[in-house]
Amino acid sequence: MDEQTERELTKNNILGEVLFSNSDIKNRISELGKEITQDYKDKNLLLVSVLRGGVIFLCDLMKEISLPLSIDFMSISTYGINGTSTGIVRITKDLDESIEGKDVLIVEDIIDTGLTISYLLRNLKSRFPNSLEICTLLDRDIRRISDINIKYIGFKIGEKYIVGYGLDYKQKFRNLQSIYELKLDTVKKDIEFLKNNSNL
Ligand code: 5GP
Repeated sequence: MDEQTERELTKNNILGEVLFSNSDIKNRISELGKEITQDYKDKNLLLVSVLRGGVIFLCDLMKEISLPLSIDFMSISTYGINGTSTGIVRITKDLDESIEGKDVLIVEDIIDTGLTISYLLRNLKSRFPNSLEICTLLDRDIRRISDINIKYIGFKIGEKYIVGYGLDYKQKFRNLQSIYELKLDTVKKDIEFLKNNSNL
């Protein structure tokens, strides 16, 4: 989405403040890419992205890693109650390739309670990778339930629900270039609309 359209969404109170601009994100990804390049020399690196939120991050990150690598994708559906994760996860698309003996780096958009990634770690560990680590663009550790070790973190964030750069609200806003707070009004308007159109 172009910058002017993003500014209009902010002016119209749909989006709140920019938390991380596109250039903040690009700079941080370049740093992460350099670290990963150092750490994975002489390894058999496979980046695993979880559809759909992590895809934009994966695309930008892989270009900053100066090593031979492969990519693969998983899709999962999680069951949430009132917007919170329950850790009950179903794989709706599995990886295409075996990960046995590979150095797997899971590339995630955001880790919140950590329940989803804990499930993924357990599942992938049972497939005998040589190593298994996590790289997340955003880490909201204040709501963490599962005790997990995250090797690479882009940015730490607080309570605010965020959208953009792959992250959605009801499948929208993934194409914003920067990361924004979602205005509570947007959510309220949405709920009002659903109430008034319950026959839809
Ligand atoms: P967890 O199992 O760690 O609680 O949930 C992680 C998933 O919750 C993320 O992959 C993402 O889909 C969703 N999520 C958690 N916080 C946010 C947020 O602030 N914004 C968006 N768009 N999704 C979020």
